[in-house]
Amino acid sequence: MDAFGGRLVSKLRCCNCGHSSVTREPLIDISLEIEGVDSVPAALESFTKIEKIEFSCERCKTHGPFEKQLLIDHAPTVVVLHLKRFKNNGLVVQKVEKNVLFPLELDMLLYTNDINNEEMKYDLYAVIVHYGPSTSSGHYYSFIRCAPNEWYKFNDEKVDYVQEDLVLAEHAYIMLYAKRGTPWFSDYIEIHRPFVNLVIPTTSNDVSDETSLKLALNKIENNDSHVKVYCEDQLQNVEIKQDEELTDALDRNSHGSSVNGKKRKLQD
Ligand SMILES: [Zn+2]
Repeated sequence: MDAFGGRLVSKLRCCNCGHSSVTREPLIDISLEIEGVDSVPAALESFTKIEKIEFSCERCKTHGPFEKQLLIDHAPTVVVLHLKRFKNNGLVVQKVEKNVLFPLELDMLLYTNDINNEEMKYDLYAVIVHYGPSTSSGHYYSFIRCAPNEWYKFNDEKVDYVQEDLVLAEHAYIMLYAKRGTPWFSDYIEIHRPFVNLVIPTTSNDVSDETSLKLALNKIENNDSHVKVYCEDQLQNVEIKQDEELTDALDRNSHGSSVNGKKRKLQD
């Protein structure tokens, strides 16, 4: 719930006497109407816009116009947006195959009840696509953004590296946006991968200067990005670098465990 659970607020205001009421409810995902809009920000704007409805006022006892507005009262760490691509026309459920643009970045502050004006930037990190004509048939596949410029397509057992523009051209069904500052998947991999350093002997002739050493290292490293290979001549530098990496990773790990500790405490 810490990651996905938020809160929605519904505000009602009588246009006759100004009497207002507020109702809050839990929020897991936001279902967005896509009729009449061509982008996710436009759909969110429409979702949170002030509507006029007819309602009975408990204070002035008249049945008349009310202003109604839905806003995000508390935005979760991960905002899940669902597009209403399946329409029930009373007889059958039809799929709406229209292109709805979804940005890489969302400013959720525009759609919240928050008056603190604290920055609420969210980054797209996953997209789920439904392929097929109806809810009862078809196939789902997804895209995960492991790092800011690194996307993978997950289609059953097949995983492919894909270009970002191909992802953004999809008819997305569900999009997941993470609050800026949330670690990317690549950050987790960086923390948990083993620190494997192979040492290969070199002579001063092989690597006569820093540039050729860097070229040699790049060449080796490009063959396998998960294994770092260092030359003997540079071992001292490597040790310093490795220490920094370890300290950094340990810092991040210890932060992680303190957060978990806090969570356990809250659940008790
Ligand atoms: Zn009233």
